[in-house]
Amino acid sequence: MNQADAQRIRGILADLGYTETAEEQDADLIIFNTCSVRDHAERRLAGRVRSLSALKRKNSDLIIAVAGCMAQNLKSKIFDLLPQVDIVFGPNDIEQLPKLLKNANAGKTLGKFLSKGSFDGESADGIIISRPFSAMVNIIRGCTNFCSYCIVPYVRGPEISRPVDELLIYIKELVDKGVKEVTLLGQNVNAYGKDLGMNEGFATLLEEIDKIEGLRWIRFLTSHPRDFTPEAIIRISKLKKVCEQYHLPFQAGSNRILELMGRGYTKEKYLELVDNVRKYIPNVSLSTDIICGFPGETEEQFEETLEMVKRVRYESAFMYYYSPRPGTKAASMPGQLSDEVKKARLARLIDVQTEISKEESLKLVGKTFEVLVESLSARDDSYVAGKTSSGRTVDFKGNKDLIGSFVNVEIEQARNWTLSGKLVNS
Ligand code: SAH
Ligand code: SF4
Repeated sequence: MNQADAQRIRGILADLGYTETAEEQDADLIIFNTCSVRDHAERRLAGRVRSLSALKRKNSDLIIAVAGCMAQNLKSKIFDLLPQVDIVFGPNDIEQLPKLLKNANAGKTLGKFLSKGSFDGESADGIIISRPFSAMVNIIRGCTNFCSYCIVPYVRGPEISRPVDELLIYIKELVDKGVKEVTLLGQNVNAYGKDLGMNEGFATLLEEIDKIEGLRWIRFLTSHPRDFTPEAIIRISKLKKVCEQYHLPFQAGSNRILELMGRGYTKEKYLELVDNVRKYIPNVSLSTDIICGFPGETEEQFEETLEMVKRVRYESAFMYYYSPRPGTKAASMPGQLSDEVKKARLARLIDVQTEISKEESLKLVGKTFEVLVESLSARDDSYVAGKTSSGRTVDFKGNKDLIGSFVNVEIEQARNWTLSGKLVNS
């Protein structure tokens, strides 16, 4: 979501005549696009901004801006916390950036902090994507779920879907500019269209996007297990362009904890969803988000989470220990666990998942996949790297002219997550 916001921020700045630099000391403007999902992200921002103090003293024209969820949450308090900052604006008022920049020279400026995001004025022309063949597209902003641990609904506002016809025009414009892959974004993509009065709006939207000529791959993130219906799975499984990659966050393996989290599904319902997805999309790659150490979580309940990981065998998982977010329901629940217990459980969870990721990766050796080549490989300039339809990163010997094209790669070697292979004829 932050990367999608960054695409728009980049576009707005390019329109104003800004160009990008990788060197902090050359910058006239440094924007931090922040996250408040966990305390760790917030603490990192403070450290990074403070490290710019010397640069700010040397260059009095340098403007430092804080954008994103932390800005929305703390608003003017950021100026007290970090006096180096000149502009603070939230995720729903990115369009105000030109005005804010103009005012910033006269003193510290704040955005309007709209509680509702709209899609007004968002055109494909106005965004700059870091990879010209791959774009992220917001289909639904905000979140109305209020999971008890989560700050997102407070900072991103309620769910607002972008109308189907607008999205189709937007994506067609992107495809005309050379985009081959889109990633549709929402905190809960399965809620798409509810606020527009649609039933199974997400499946309907995908069916329409699937028809766009020139577009090759469609990904989406994130699915909410409560709202992913069997009908949607069947309809989506028939679409040729939708990638075999499903991110299905389960958060916790114990029904009691799921209830306290307010997730709206049980372990049994979740497993039914997984079985259904695997039935209709046989080569699907599954990933998930997991929180351990939620308030009141017992050792037995944590073990249920481990059991879930072993039962589903995800190819990868984003794992975190619970971080209390002030103002959310869970932050004041009884039974808050010590950092020591939370960290120890996270380490055990990571160990179990890492082993599974390795084993699942090994199963891919010898198989051939279509890969969209994305960049030069980090390890060596004579290698390029790309992604399979299931979202696996693969690197192989090849030159940079392949970037942006689809090729077939046979997997020769598997590490925990990345795979290596060789180019084969299609
Ligand atoms: N809308 C998505 C998740 C968005 S936040 C969904 O519902 O799946 C991304 C992930 O951050 C969540 O899935 C959750 O695992 C994690 N997360 C959110 N709040 C957290 C908190 N307070 N502590 C630890 N992890 C948290
Ligand atoms: Fe947060 Fe839950 Fe909304 Fe995801 S669905 S963003 S976890 S409140």
